[in-house]
Amino acid sequence: MALGTASTRTDRARTVRDLLASGEQSYSFEFAAPKTERGERTLWNAIRRIEAVSPTFVSVTYGAGGSSREGTVRATERIATDTTLTPVAHLTAVNHSIAELRNIIGQYADAGIRNMLAVRGDPPGDPMGAWVRHPEGVTYAAELVRLIKESGDFCVGVAAFPEMHPRSVDWETDVGHFVDKCRAGADFAITQMFFYAEDYLRLRDRVAAAGCDTPIIPEIMPVTNVRQIERFAQLSNAAFPPELAERILAVQDDPAAVRSVGIDYATNLCARLMAEEIPGLHFITLNHSTATLEIYENLGLHQRSG
Ligand code: FAD
Repeated sequence: MALGTASTRTDRARTVRDLLASGEQSYSFEFAAPKTERGERTLWNAIRRIEAVSPTFVSVTYGAGGSSREGTVRATERIATDTTLTPVAHLTAVNHSIAELRNIIGQYADAGIRNMLAVRGDPPGDPMGAWVRHPEGVTYAAELVRLIKESGDFCVGVAAFPEMHPRSVDWETDVGHFVDKCRAGADFAITQMFFYAEDYLRLRDRVAAAGCDTPIIPEIMPVTNVRQIERFAQLSNAAFPPELAERILAVQDDPAAVRSVGIDYATNLCARLMAEEIPGLHFITLNHSTATLEIYENLGLHQRSG
């Protein structure tokens, strides 16, 4: 085996838990599994550009309803074998029996993947429709965490919701379920995207007050076009800042100006969070690297790679 390959294997075997324990703020990026050949080329173009800035880790989402199961396994495996990146594979419980989940976990293990993000997933078609558990599956992400943990030496992340999960009756109950999920064995958490630093800080402090020290990494997604104003609110249940909407609408006929406003807002949000001893930042890329890399550069983070 070539030396380069050996060192790549060592790097990819690192866990997010260990990387976060190093004490340095982590910088990571999220990709979606591609559905077409063209999508695959776009994804790999973005991955190669992100690889150049040496992120702490990258993650690959699992399609709604388990739709991109093969794509997620394939993309994550290729990241593990063909790049210097540390991959995190998302896994959802949607439409999967426990036997199927064990099988997918086994495929990840065979590919040398040690990090997984265990999320329950939403019902296919209508994310707010009734959640129907597979007759031989699991009901909550906490069970998925336990299943992965008992399947091998994996590092497991979970989802956190600064503005509460849309299905929860109230914020305190939601925080309680989040803490239970951490106690089921989660090593780290990544939040839903949000727009106000205070929402993240409130969650972080409440979780700490409950005696839970699981690192919670804030997730950031810049608005890059007008359509996203509505789309973001639907996707995340996040309150869209009226002041940001106003700034975007004021330049709506100029796509470059809209993008610049979105990147500026996200840069300021990141800078505010970084001043608060956060464990790191996780950027949603939508498989296009340029906007997130611009924020990365605005924050002076490109100087840390190399
Ligand atoms: P859970 O933790 O199971 O929580 C779901 C709801 O049940 C919450 O309201 C919670 O408070 C409640 N609850 C939890 N435990 C209990 C209990 N014991 N009793 C009663 N109520 C309880 N979706 C995808 O399809 N693919 C992805 O790759 C993906 N990646 C994501 C990454 C991140 C960082 C985030 C934030 C979300 C991601 N999602 C993904 C979306 C996610 O699947 C949905 O938001 C889903 O609705 C919730 O998942 P969860 O893991 O938080 O569920």
